[in-house]
Order: sequence, then C-alpha cells, then structure tokens
Amino acid sequence: MGKITGFLEFERHDRKYAPVEDRIKNYQEFVLPLSEKDVREQASRCMDCGVPYCHGTNRVTNAPTGCPVNNQIPDWNDLVYRGNWDEAARNLHSTNNFPEFTGRVCPAPCEASCTLNIDDNPVTIKTIECEIADRAIAQGLKPETTLPKTSKKVAIVGSGPAGLACAQQLARAGHDVHVYERWAKAGGLLRYGIPDFKMEKIHVDRRIEQMKAEGIHFHYGVHVGVDLPVEKLIGGYDAIVLAGGSEKPRDLPIPGRELKGIHFAMDFLPQQNRRVGNEPLGDREPILATGKKVVVIGGGDTGSDCIGTSIRQGAVSVANFEIMPQPPAMENKLLTWPDWPLKLRTSSSHQEGVERDFAVGTQSFSGENGQVKKLHCARLDAKFKPIPGTEFDIEADLVLLAMGFVHPVHEGMLKSFDVALDGRGNVSADTDAYLTSVPKVFAAGDMRRGQSLVVWAIREGRQCAHAVDKYLMGKTSLPR
Ligand SMILES: Cc1cc2nc3c(=O)[nH]c(=O)nc-3n(C[C@H](O)[C@H](O)[C@H](O)COP(=O)(O)OP(=O)(O)OC[C@H]3O[C@@H](n4cnc5c(N)ncnc54)[C@H](O)[C@@H]3O)c2cc1C
Repeated sequence: MGKITGFLEFERHDRKYAPVEDRIKNYQEFVLPLSEKDVREQASRCMDCGVPYCHGTNRVTNAPTGCPVNNQIPDWNDLVYRGNWDEAARNLHSTNNFPEFTGRVCPAPCEASCTLNIDDNPVTIKTIECEIADRAIAQGLKPETTLPKTSKKVAIVGSGPAGLACAQQLARAGHDVHVYERWAKAGGLLRYGIPDFKMEKIHVDRRIEQMKAEGIHFHYGVHVGVDLPVEKLIGGYDAIVLAGGSEKPRDLPIPGRELKGIHFAMDFLPQQNRRVGNEPLGDREPILATGKKVVVIGGGDTGSDCIGTSIRQGAVSVANFEIMPQPPAMENKLLTWPDWPLKLRTSSSHQEGVERDFAVGTQSFSGENGQVKKLHCARLDAKFKPIPGTEFDIEADLVLLAMGFVHPVHEGMLKSFDVALDGRGNVSADTDAYLTSVPKVFAAGDMRRGQSLVVWAIREGRQCAHAVDKYLMGKTSLPR
C-alpha cells in the first residue's frame, strides 16, 4: 500500500466521455483517459484492506466476489501508485490474458466489491486496469515464450474471449492449438456483438497477431458440425474445446411477429460492426435504423448497444422497453455489498437520446403492407401480467429484439458431438474438469455457462486450459 492516507485525501475521479454531439457522429471509442498523475492518485485510494473482496472467493459457494479472473488488484494499484507500470502489467497479465478488453467493456464487479464502496466511492479499478494494459500494449505486444512443444494437438471451436483465452494458455503450455471459427475474423462477440464505440477492433486484431506469433493456427469460415464434420476433429486432435457461445436468441412469439422490420439484435449489430470493419455483408439484407422510429425491446447490454448503434445510424427516435420494473437509483449497500447490486444502470448509449420505459410488455405488433408500424403494449404487474387499462401503442418502423439468449444453438455441432446438456440447455461440464459427457471434449464460456460476460468467458477459457493441460499431460503448471 503506497499511500496510507490516499483514500482520505483523494475523491474518486474517473474517465469522462466525449460530448454526445461529437461521439454520435462516428463509431470510435469516446472514453477520455485520465492523466498519468490522476491514475496514480486514484490507485493510491486503494486501502489494501485486510480481505480484498475485489478479487476474493466466497468460501461457501466458491464463487468469486468481485473479479472473476481474480486480478490481484491491490498489488497492481500499489505498483501504479509507485509508477512501476511494467511490473503492474506483468502482474495484471498473470491473471488476465486480455485486460485491454475488460478495461473497456467489463461492468467491473470488482468495484462493487471494493471495501471503499461500503461508505465511500470505490477505487476506479477498471480505469486503472485499462491504463496498465494500454501502456503495455503501446510498447508493443510481443509473443510470450512457450514451454517446450508437447506434440499434443488441441482444437478449439469458437474464437470469442473464452476460446481465445483457452487457446493462448494451451499454446503457452506447448500444445499445437488450432482455433476454428465460422465467421471471417476472430473475436466472437468482441468483434461482431460489442460495437466499435465501446471497443474498437484494433484491440482484438493486436491480440490475434500476438497469438499467431505464439504459434496458434486460426481457421476462419469453418462452421464445425455444418461444413466440417465433428469426426474430423475427434480423429485429428487429442482434445477439443467447445467455446461456441450462447447464440440462440430469446424470441417474442406474439401476433404480428412475422412482420418485416422486426429483427433480433444479433442480426442488426454485427452488420454495423462489419461495415466499420470493411467486411462485406454478403447476402445479408441490410438492416438500418436510418430515418426510422426504432423500438428496442430489452434493457440489458445488448439493448443498450442497439440504442447507441441506432442513434449513430440516424434514427428519428429510439425507445427502449424493459419487462422488469425500474430498479432503485441506489442500492442499499449494507444489504448488497460485496455482491453485485441491482440498481438503475445508465450506459453511455442511454445518455445519447433514448426514451426508456420499465415494466412494459409488448402484446402484439401491427403493420401495413407487411411492414411493422406499431407496437401494442401494456404496463405489467409484479407477476408480469398486463394491468387492465394501461394499454398504449407506439409507432415503430424498426423493432430490435434484445431479450437475451436462451442457450447455445443445439443443431449442428452440439447434436453431432452428442454432448449432454444441462437443465438450461447449455453444454453440461463441471468447473473442475470442464469435461463434457463425451471423452476428450471440453466446454467453456457462454456455451457452458450460459450468456454472461467477457470477464467470465476469459476465466472459463483459462480454467478450461488448466483442465485440458492436466488431462493431456497428467499435470499442469497453468494457473486456474
Ligand atoms: C451485443 C452484446 C453486447 C455485449 N456487451 C458486453 C459488455 O459490454 N461487457 C461484457 O462483459 N459482456 C458483454 N456481452 C457478453 C459477452 O460478449 C459474452 O459473454 C462473451 O463474448 C462470451 O464469450 P464466448 O467466448 O463464450 O462466446 P462468443 O463471444 O459468443 O464467441 C463464440 C464464437 O464461437 C463461434 N462459433 C459458434 N459455433 C461455432 C461452430 N459450430 N463452428 C465454428 N465457430 C463457431 C461464433 O461464431 C463466435 O465467434 C455482450 C453480448 C452481446 C450479445
């Protein structure tokens, strides 16, 4: 702990955003970094408390409190305060393969768990993490040395954060790693889901270059179980990791759903990311919010990304409906800390011009000439039943369904592997062995856990790599 009185001397002071009127003109990141002096001062607010809940483990449930990758936050806060950026970067990378991703898009459960958050404002952990990562990367992202080659071959299906973290760990353990990805580029939802204004894709590209230099082979445009039979992987590899994400979107099967202009968020968002990345849309019908009245159904991260993207495309208006009631503006910290609290979260996209409404259920869509024109809605009671007399209509030319994902796609790869599923339809594998019901086939990330977060996907990828290495070699030096 560098400065014993830091938390008493300095208020929390975090990164700001570029003004709305400027940032909505393009798809670039708009978070304004703090000066070095400010970051070091903020790091000095860390109290190095006796039990650092920001990266601890709940002894009853064995689940993490705070950071799912167990970043050693007080250690690198201290290093940053002292200006030892290189050692801070080494420490940070020892637990997180991609801190520049989490430094941008993580909701920062570590900050909710920060001891200072009990009766003050938490340390700006995410900002400090991002600064450490960006400074290290600015010096050049070099390949890390790997252990001697093992002659074992591992196939990883899916190049999202789980697949990438798993691949990097296994390659560094000396294995010959091949990543299969059905899209044209690597990154999974980091590239095709999360908009560039939250995270530019240069960050993914840099890591892929590093991983290639570490010996990882990427095979793009290969849909395993559809255009590559799973038998080829079973016959050709010593272990296979399924990291294909949770891609089956939750639908809204109500009257009028068949009308044109109603799309899943993940049919809309990847198109814009492809446009920004100069990747052809192929035979996909363009979905654009330009000049349209847009209604986004779903109040989570995906819904928020649809709002920011619609605004940048030039929507006339954007409304957002959430089925849950509006949460309180502030949590009761004494009841919730150190857990992740339920409270109203206003994202940068929400600040850009959207009408948000809560406890709203859409009952039907109606249209003209096959094109959606209106949503017919009602307010909902605590049991999600429409309250009589609260019905209302809203006009829309484009409706984006952002109501989450139910489980991975079962058709194709999972059916062909014939892996057992859990009660929620995710691939069944426990968090010790990460092994599915099929010998030498492992699973990690959203495909195993269900829809989650980037930081959880990185954790799962790292832990799965530990399990695969142990399975292949009988022991492992990879961290869990
Ligand atoms: C729009 C959106 C915004 C989000 N924003 C955030 C955020 O701000 N912060 C945050 O922490 N989390 C966010 N999330 C969640 C986060 O992106 C995911 O939890 C995370 O990416 C899951 O990682 P994964 O590696 O398990 O799967 P994914 O990232 O989904 O990657 C799976 C990959 O597997 C490939 N694949 C699937 N099946 C096959 C197959 N048969 N053959 C070959 N390839 C296959 C897919 O093409 C994909 O590239 C967001 C999610 C969405 C949808």
